[in-house]
Amino acid sequence: MDKIKRFKLALRKNPHYFQLIKNLKNYYKKKYQENKDETKYLYLAALESLKAFLKGEIPIGCVLISPEGKIFKAHNLKETLKDPTAHAEILAIRKASKYYDTWFLKNFKIYVTLEPCLMCFGSLIESRITDIYYGYLEPKYGFSNFIKIENFPKLIIKNLNLSDIIIPIKIFFKLLRYEHYL
Ligand SMILES: [Zn+2]
Repeated sequence: MDKIKRFKLALRKNPHYFQLIKNLKNYYKKKYQENKDETKYLYLAALESLKAFLKGEIPIGCVLISPEGKIFKAHNLKETLKDPTAHAEILAIRKASKYYDTWFLKNFKIYVTLEPCLMCFGSLIESRITDIYYGYLEPKYGFSNFIKIENFPKLIIKNLNLSDIIIPIKIFFKLLRYEHYL
């Protein structure tokens, strides 16, 4: 059975998780309204991650903001699209590149619920995105595990360490009864 089917079956057997996700949605909305700057947008990314959750995807969301303030939202769709590159960050970059008809996303800022992987980090560099904010450390596949951040002095990289942002990921793995490190 594929992951999405397994997840949806587990969710049907545990309907109280729907209520939990509904509560989280209201909580993130409130946090989005209450906060400012990067924290605000990380909660917007967290709202996006809930969309992935309901699709049976590992719930990771992101928002990419252009210098003029246009917001591009995306969430992980790896299983749905059967595409190993369909991470939230890549999908947001594609949306913005399509909209502005350029790969060059200088002065854009990205807010991701979980530390980007190496592929996404590379894509951010390729897009010339220099401001990277994430909600929580990914100790295994996060880019900081593989590269020296000091080699990229022009980048602004901030881990906001917001443990409430990764609650959907914890629930997701609990539902699937996966052993996970988070
Ligand atoms: Zn990634």
